Amino acid sequence: MRKRFDSSAFEKLTWAFGSPAHAENQIEHSGITLRSKAYITAKIFRTGTGRRIRALRQRRGKLEVMAAKLHGALCEPTDFGRREFRAALVNVTNVCNLECRHCFVYRAGNPNLARDKMDDATMLHELRMLRDKHGIKSMLFMGGEPMIRKRLVFEAMKLFEHSSIVTNGTYGIPSIPNHLVTVSLDGPERMNDPIRGEGVFRKVKEAIFARDPRDGTIVIIQMTITRENAPGLEEFIEEVKDWPVDGVAFTFHVPSKGEHGPLAWDDLRERDAVIGRVIALKRKNPTLLKSNVETLEMMKSERALDYTGERGEHCALRSVLPLYMGDGGNFERTFCCYGNDVDCARCGAYGVFNSAYHRMKGDHAED
Ligand code: SF4
Ligand code: SF4
Repeated sequence: MRKRFDSSAFEKLTWAFGSPAHAENQIEHSGITLRSKAYITAKIFRTGTGRRIRALRQRRGKLEVMAAKLHGALCEPTDFGRREFRAALVNVTNVCNLECRHCFVYRAGNPNLARDKMDDATMLHELRMLRDKHGIKSMLFMGGEPMIRKRLVFEAMKLFEHSSIVTNGTYGIPSIPNHLVTVSLDGPERMNDPIRGEGVFRKVKEAIFARDPRDGTIVIIQMTITRENAPGLEEFIEEVKDWPVDGVAFTFHVPSKGEHGPLAWDDLRERDAVIGRVIALKRKNPTLLKSNVETLEMMKSERALDYTGERGEHCALRSVLPLYMGDGGNFERTFCCYGNDVDCARCGAYGVFNSAYHRMKGDHAED
């Protein structure tokens, strides 16, 4: 295959497509004529000065757009039907530097192998196509850790009317004025670090204090409450209440089917007392806590199934398109945002109930 191109041309194609394997694959399966290949190659390589690596690097953005256009003739994203999805989330990488104990991304049964990657040009192209096909207005960027692909995320954000990022905060807090950055912490330091890793609390705190709080980014700290860290709720609020952020949010653990470990409540009635404590905290810290009391009341055991269903049949978040990285480096849709093997009857995702609350009220905004 390489013999069809001179070696420097092949190197540049490799650069444009992200890897030699990808370049070879695109050439092999493109179905375009040799003449077209030569034309496209020349068009890509002669853009700008085309002579010096430094100049090429400066033009990298434009070249990637060209590469993406070329991909347009070659790659189609996975077919998720014709349904409209106004909101979606995308797992931009399967890689993460942490190994949190309650992580749903790396659960067995979810498409989460680190080998399944997609280069920047392909991902931008596929997100654009999915946006146009499904009418996606709002995109949540997650991972793995999305800031491992910061450049890609910033570029992809331009494709959508509304974007937000969920990050573990260890790569710094991205500055994205007028957009939401959710930073995960799971309790006071003594409880967070056994869950998220030694030294993580301190690192995230330093990152939050290092950011410019006037840069216009909306920064929320989010704690996922489990049966294990629930005792630390009030202590957590005391620890973070004076941090330079826009608020603190809570969500509850979403167990997988048959999960009976230390994190999940077997019986939702046991969770009710914790929800009551969150409501009390909200009443005490009405501005700091981004929780809605009516939504929290809907999460209580006697009402929760009305908004989830045993198998997600009532779940408002099923209208969100979850894009995970699947086999062969293409997008794959999971059962819901939390993956495939979820126990809807014990779902603790605050967003499920808050979306239902706003639907009942007739609007689509969320706290
Ligand atoms: S930071 Fe997020 S993606 Fe990474 S292990 Fe923790 S929960 Fe999972
Ligand atoms: S587990 Fe998933 S589908 Fe089921 S209720 Fe929760 S968010 Fe919805």
